[in-house]
Amino acid sequence: ENKNDIKKLVEAFDFAAKKHSKQTRKNIDKTPYINHPIGVANIISSEAGITDVDILVSAVLHDTVEDTNTTFEELEINFGKKIRGIVEECSDDKTLEKDVRKQMQIEKAPFSSYEAKVVKLADKLYNLRDLLKGTPVGWSENRVNEYFIWALQVVAGLKGTNSVLETELDTIFRNKGVF
Ligand code: NDP
Ligand code: ZN
Repeated sequence: ENKNDIKKLVEAFDFAAKKHSKQTRKNIDKTPYINHPIGVANIISSEAGITDVDILVSAVLHDTVEDTNTTFEELEINFGKKIRGIVEECSDDKTLEKDVRKQMQIEKAPFSSYEAKVVKLADKLYNLRDLLKGTPVGWSENRVNEYFIWALQVVAGLKGTNSVLETELDTIFRNKGVF
């Protein structure tokens, strides 16, 4: 069981690394995109203290469908129905307009599974920390501020999931003066 869990997690790292191989983050340094899903998984295990393999695998894979040619069917074939479902909960519907998509994240947050809520909290925490390190290429200060306000609304719907992550996020919002 334990051995298969490690195998599955390493397979997820390999799968995500290949899928995101041509992508970079939006920062000036063009950090490899894979740093983000790996960092989200690390926040969950090292900071939140959660070592559930389905959550960690889903964290590693959480942006593969939204940001690459990966399909949910492909995730189900390689990682099973449960992982497919969690990643689906964490993915925006790309057929919708961007504004609607962002509003959907706010509205869907409270009805997410525990597993998806953990990934969503860690994802927001990682992205907000990234924004504090540097403004993405082409972003105005106003856009950064709007992102914090939007993220606060998503996080509000994820409360009661993990106290470590929620406390870290609260501190970030408070320091930014967003609440
Ligand atoms: P984008 O998708 O354009 O950008 C944010 C996303 O980019 C993050 O969620 C993250 O997603 C990814 N990302 C990549 N590199 C970085 C980085 N260095 N730092 C932080 N994030 C990074 O924005 P959204 O569509 O998510 O919009 C969110 C909100 O921002 C909207 O609701 C709106 O309020 C505001 N907005 C404002 C605009 C403006 O011009 N004022 C325009 C568009 C949005 P991932 O986890 O998938 O990598
Ligand atoms: Zn993400």
